[in-house]
Amino acid sequence: MSEKKVAPAPGDRVVIGLTFGNSNSSIAHTVDDKAEVIANEDGDRQIPTILSYVEGEEYYGQQAKNFLVRNPTNTVAYFRDFLGKDFKSIDPTHNHASAHPQEASGTVSFTIKDKEGEEAEPSTLPIAEISARYLRRLVGSASDYLGKKVTSAVITIPTNFTEKQKAALIAAAGEADLEVLQLISEPVAAVLAYDARPEGEISDKIVVVADLGGTRSDVCVVASRGGMYTILATAHDYEFAGFALDKILMDHFAKEFMKKHGGKDPRENARSLAKLKQESEATKKALSLGNNASFSVESLSEGIDFASTINRLRYETIARTVFEGFNRLVESVVKKAGLDVLDVDEVILSGGTSHTPRIAANFGYIFPKTTAILAPSTTPTAINPSELQARGAALQASLIQEYEADDIDQSTHAAVTTVPHVNNAIGVVSVSDSGEEVFIPIVQPETAVPARRTVHVAAPKDGGDVLIKVVEGNTHIKVTKPEPKANGDSKAAKVEDAADSDEDSDFSDEEEEEEEEKREKVWKIGSTLAEAAIRGVKKGGKVEVTINVNADLSVVVTTREVGAKGGVRGTISA
Ligand code: ATP
Ligand code: MG
Repeated sequence: MSEKKVAPAPGDRVVIGLTFGNSNSSIAHTVDDKAEVIANEDGDRQIPTILSYVEGEEYYGQQAKNFLVRNPTNTVAYFRDFLGKDFKSIDPTHNHASAHPQEASGTVSFTIKDKEGEEAEPSTLPIAEISARYLRRLVGSASDYLGKKVTSAVITIPTNFTEKQKAALIAAAGEADLEVLQLISEPVAAVLAYDARPEGEISDKIVVVADLGGTRSDVCVVASRGGMYTILATAHDYEFAGFALDKILMDHFAKEFMKKHGGKDPRENARSLAKLKQESEATKKALSLGNNASFSVESLSEGIDFASTINRLRYETIARTVFEGFNRLVESVVKKAGLDVLDVDEVILSGGTSHTPRIAANFGYIFPKTTAILAPSTTPTAINPSELQARGAALQASLIQEYEADDIDQSTHAAVTTVPHVNNAIGVVSVSDSGEEVFIPIVQPETAVPARRTVHVAAPKDGGDVLIKVVEGNTHIKVTKPEPKANGDSKAAKVEDAADSDEDSDFSDEEEEEEEEKREKVWKIGSTLAEAAIRGVKKGGKVEVTINVNADLSVVVTTREVGAKGGVRGTISA
């Protein structure tokens, strides 16, 4: 390996945001503070993470992906996750139809013919070299597009990348002459892309990011408090992902082919299988847009051409088990975070598989109506799920490009905070019209500290002395059971389609009953932190309560009448 290049001076940097996935990569940059995903020379914004060598010439992206049919052994695909890993710990499932990973010189390697000529010796290339070559191509495409040499990038990584993997990625980028400004976690990049929109509110919220890719699905709960992101829980799944959906269509069309033509099973021949896979993926993508899609392959098996169609309902029926897997994954991570679905304000669908309308619709059933499901099929203003992470990375890159490399101290750590945060909410007790004490949250649970929040509390109608009680608050879920039905009529409730009839079963045993039990999030008043009396508040006046939670979790409460002088201030120790 060559020596590490000297980092460019902050003023000389040309920066991009990069996602580098097992299936696809993308490049984004910012124009007037807006993120834009760049197309490469083939016109692709989702660039397959694949390299292929034909007669010494290197192909990358979609061109390389096309070679999976004719040149699989010299094509390297699905390798990102192998970076920085021991050979023993990798899962080579997805490499059976292309170059196989092997152990050489103590590292994951691929043996391919990358030089010209029949006689040329094959090369055994370590994963670091493969990654560097691929990243070099991405940087080349970005530089061509921008008309200047790209020097630096923010790159997104999964939340479970190890320190070794991060170091390996930074080294591979270095080999490709690319300075890594920072590695940020994929879900946080997705949240950043949404929060950066002019209409995006940096409000306190709980966000679930469902990143559904090709070989893996990663779901994560993020607390966004005052623009600070804290990851509360993550889950990773390598079974329910885009390839599982491809597989379902491959099996479907292979069976149909055999039934119609009595031909040999196309899954038993490598080349037929590659064609079947390629077209199944295209059909799957078409089903995200339309209600019908065609499937057509020339010479699928034994020289027989095959053409067919499939509608979305049929697809959703045969793929139901995979869709249910996504549901379970999302539900499990909410639970893991110690939260309830009612606590979730937004669900961001990220990754290519998130284009699938059924998946977003299913998530809509899991969460209450108040939760925004941000996917193209449910929210017209949603950002393209395939572009979210690259956009977030580009925004972050433009934000930090002026910093000296040493000041971007976090660069080897994902910019995810494990900062201290308050466990319980902090708020005030107010008396409702019916005389009940109610909790008004000011600082939400999981808020990263230090934090400062202010609210205005209305004084009683006639004014006078107001007692402000600052307390901790916890939520609990209040369940109201429906009145039992007189007869079993509701069992006859019509079910719209086969897929719909089952999807509710995951979260309710009573899905056949029309009446569902009512679940609401209610606050419970916890221990009292402070009390302050504000005397002689004007009729119709308001009291301002400011809560400062310091880094050591001590709390400072300030109360004053809005528009009046003075006030009461008190500190409660952690
Ligand atoms: P991973 O690392 O999990 O392999 P990735 O992050 O590199 O994946 P993505 O581009 O997020 O890749 O996801 C790729 C998957 O998304 C593929 O299975 C692809 O078929 C699928 N996909 C892309 N576009 C669509 C679409 N419009 N509808 C359905 N699936 C799609
Ligand atoms: Mg991904």
